Formats: sequence, structure tokens, C-alpha cells
Amino acid sequence: MKQIIVAIDGYSSCGKSTIAKQLAQYAGYRYIDTGAMYRAAALFAIRNKISDFSSQQSDIIALLPQVHIDFAIQPDGTQHVTLNGEDVEKQIRTLEVGNGASQIAVIPEVRRYLVAQQQQMGKNGGIVMDGRDIGTVVFPEAELKLFLTASPEVRAERRYKELIEKGEQPVMADVLADVNDRDYRDTHRAESPLKQAADAVVVDNSIMTREEQMEAIIGIFDNKIRPLR
Ligand code: C5P
Repeated sequence: MKQIIVAIDGYSSCGKSTIAKQLAQYAGYRYIDTGAMYRAAALFAIRNKISDFSSQQSDIIALLPQVHIDFAIQPDGTQHVTLNGEDVEKQIRTLEVGNGASQIAVIPEVRRYLVAQQQQMGKNGGIVMDGRDIGTVVFPEAELKLFLTASPEVRAERRYKELIEKGEQPVMADVLADVNDRDYRDTHRAESPLKQAADAVVVDNSIMTREEQMEAIIGIFDNKIRPLR
């Protein structure tokens, strides 16, 4: 059976990775979290004394050849991102690294470096990849493109709960400001801004439960692959 490329794009904290993981599991495909790659690159920069991502862009670009990102499959089937062989799945999930990722992601050289790796990972199909530019830049020829969205307030609330569960002590107003800042940076950067591909199916999940959303997305996927069987 033909194994397609599924590209999932959308705003931060709209549940892309949960959906992408579940769809990959349903389809028996590999899941690639490209946000984790930008986060790992940001973590590397932070560890190498980069404190200002906008004024130190040339220092960040010079560090790129030392950044080797991969995914290690865990015994339970989930994947952890690795940075130069070290499992950094937990370290990349903080607010600081998330913010750094969104700042590092505006640098064209960083994007080109990571996009080339993403294209290599997905070239044979059988992949669900999520990010901001998958359906527009990484795989413009993907057979199925989904664009997920939800209101900033709903996304901030979800993000707030996630941070609490991780033992952080976030302030709601900061989390919402962070969501809005990231949206702005993601949609206004010169290189590969977040935008909906013309042929993407839009799913607004503001008032959908995860189950309703998954049911809708599996339906869309099945309809897409049925004629290809
Ligand atoms: O999806 P996640 O929040 O983990 O992504 C972290 C940051 O990486 C995002 O805020 C976004 O700016 C950036 N990113 C990107 N392109 C992608 C994936 C993530 O610019 N394909």
C-alpha cells in the first residue's frame, strides 16, 4: 500500500503533536516533531552562552555544524529528540527553550539546515510530520495537509495546564503573552512564515474534545488513502 506524507501545521499549543502522534500510530507511520528540532537547536545555543538570539545570529550560525539532531525510539514506541547523542526530550520542553526556539526559527540559515534534515527523514513517505512550514516549504507536495488552529486563550490555558503538570509555576498572563508573541513571530518572519497551504484541510479545535478531533482527522486520512490502496 502506498505510504503518504502527512503534513500538520498550525499555531503553537494547539495540540498538533498529540494529534500527529495518534495519527502516526493509527497509520503505522513514523512521527517527526520538527518543533523539537528547533527546540534542540535553541538548547544547544543556550548551552553555548548565546543569551541574545537576535543580536547573536552570526554566532548561532557558526555553531550549526556542531548541532546533530535525531530521534531515538523508546521501548514504549514514543520518540525522544537527541542532541549530539544526548536525550534532551525533557530539557527542551521549558518555556525558556520554547521561546528560544521561536527566536532561532527566524534565522534563514537555521531553517535551511533543519529543513534539509526533515526532507531527508520524510522522503520515502510513511510519515506524519508536524510544524509550521511542513505543507508549504518542507513537503509542498505532501498528499495530505492539515492546518490546526484554536483561539489564543484556549491554547494558553492548555499550555498553562501542561506547565503545571511538569512542576513549573507559570503565571497565566505570561503564558498568554507568550502564545501571542510566538504567533506573531511565527506568522511575521521573513523566512517560511506560518501560513495555511492553499490545499490544507483546516481543523479548528477550540471547542472539540481530543476524541472528536481525532475521529475527524482519521476520517480525513482514510478518505485520502482509500483511493490510493
Ligand atoms: O511546536 P513547538 O512549539 O515545539 O515549536 C517550537 C518553536 O519552533 C515554535 O514556536 C516555532 O517558532 C518554531 N518552529 C518553526 N518551524 C517548525 C517547527 C517549529 O518555526 N517547522
